[in-house]
Amino acid sequence: MNVPQSSPGSRLDNYVDRYAARTAGMTASEVRALFAVASRPEVVSLAGGMPNIDALPLDAVADTVARLVAERGTVALQYGSGQGDETLRGQICDVMRLEGIEAHPDDITVTVGSQQALDLVTRVFIDPGDVILAEAPSYVGALSTFASYQADVVHVAMDEDGLIPEHLENAITAVRAAGKRIKFLYTIPNFHNPMGVCMSAERRARVLEICRRADLLIIEDNPYGLLGFDGEPMRALRADDADGVVYLGSFSKTFAPGLRVGWAVAPHAVREKLVLAAEASVLSPPVFSQMTVSAYLETQPWRSQIKTYREMYRERRDAMLDALRTCMPPGTSWTNPAGGFFVWVTLPEGLDAKAMLPRAVTARVAYVPGTAFYADGFGASSMRLSFCYPTPERIREGVRRLATVISEELELRAMFGSGSTPGRALPGPASPTTQAPGPDLA
Ligand code: PMP
Repeated sequence: MNVPQSSPGSRLDNYVDRYAARTAGMTASEVRALFAVASRPEVVSLAGGMPNIDALPLDAVADTVARLVAERGTVALQYGSGQGDETLRGQICDVMRLEGIEAHPDDITVTVGSQQALDLVTRVFIDPGDVILAEAPSYVGALSTFASYQADVVHVAMDEDGLIPEHLENAITAVRAAGKRIKFLYTIPNFHNPMGVCMSAERRARVLEICRRADLLIIEDNPYGLLGFDGEPMRALRADDADGVVYLGSFSKTFAPGLRVGWAVAPHAVREKLVLAAEASVLSPPVFSQMTVSAYLETQPWRSQIKTYREMYRERRDAMLDALRTCMPPGTSWTNPAGGFFVWVTLPEGLDAKAMLPRAVTARVAYVPGTAFYADGFGASSMRLSFCYPTPERIREGVRRLATVISEELELRAMFGSGSTPGRALPGPASPTTQAPGPDLA
């Protein structure tokens, strides 16, 4: 029998032709290649959003894990429930009570990080072309998920007090007038990624009211809510509207991201769909990780660990704000985060953060250009700086280097007029790196 042969090259071409339409939105960030260079030790990376877990007592975690395997290994290493471990779901209710949420363990779906919760919610609600309203700017990992389900993201402006209610109202009216279906509003009310700001209490009430009137579901993404530097955690949106809000939480920032344990709290009918979608995706979230988190919450002083994290991040935030005040040229502005990981910097007029990035990396400092956080190409005048990972000394040095690059960029513009100034060639190939995932994604 004659079986037609094809060269490996043509087979690969065929695969490209066969990809589903939804893969068109799955593109690597343009700046990802640059981050391979940026993860060299001599570069101060203010780009990555990785939690700093140096402050975690590894001996205590090791004891917890050893005891778990010795005493309950046959359960911990087995498949589990699609909805997640019941004991952990009860403990999650205790954690959320800190933000005013009264939930029942049955309302909770445990997920593989809150990133999987984002994926499940999007899978359950979005048909291609449906509209998602999202803050401008917004979390890059959420935008990637939305793109992979072919959603149409419409951005809503925000300022130092979070999402602007009037803009939300206008967006709802305009999208509906254009005959499109809005499926939900996606918001990060606390210590926003990438802006670092919080939605004020007054705005929370107004946003809830607007969405209730417009019959619009809210997805409240809250991985940073317990990482405020002053005072008590803010009241969650979910605390004031259990039927209108799906709340997403995570242990990535309050314990450890490598365990990949997050959760969604949803109105009952939605919760059922989330569990079915989760089972189709991963059968069950990892039992071993869930039981590790559960044992940690039960046996370790997790509240004081969160306090330790807060103090560490506050010191780093202070170092960054102080360095920005001292070093940045006039015309540069930035947000003043009261928690979380990020500062949002806006450049003097006419400068382009993406065009400037190769020069910055050559000067051994990296950041994420603002365009990464918009679905529509805006954001070129801004950048996200993370203060979570480097030491305060490295943060100061990084901001100093960045300020020099911005000042030089301004001088070049003064000499040669507008247009982005050419970056010098980047230094040779990157050395192998252990940074994962792409720091621009976190
Ligand atoms: N939402 C936001 C706003 C985030 O910043 C992140 C991670 N950086 C996530 C969700 C996902 O976190 P995880 O999957 O680790 O819970």
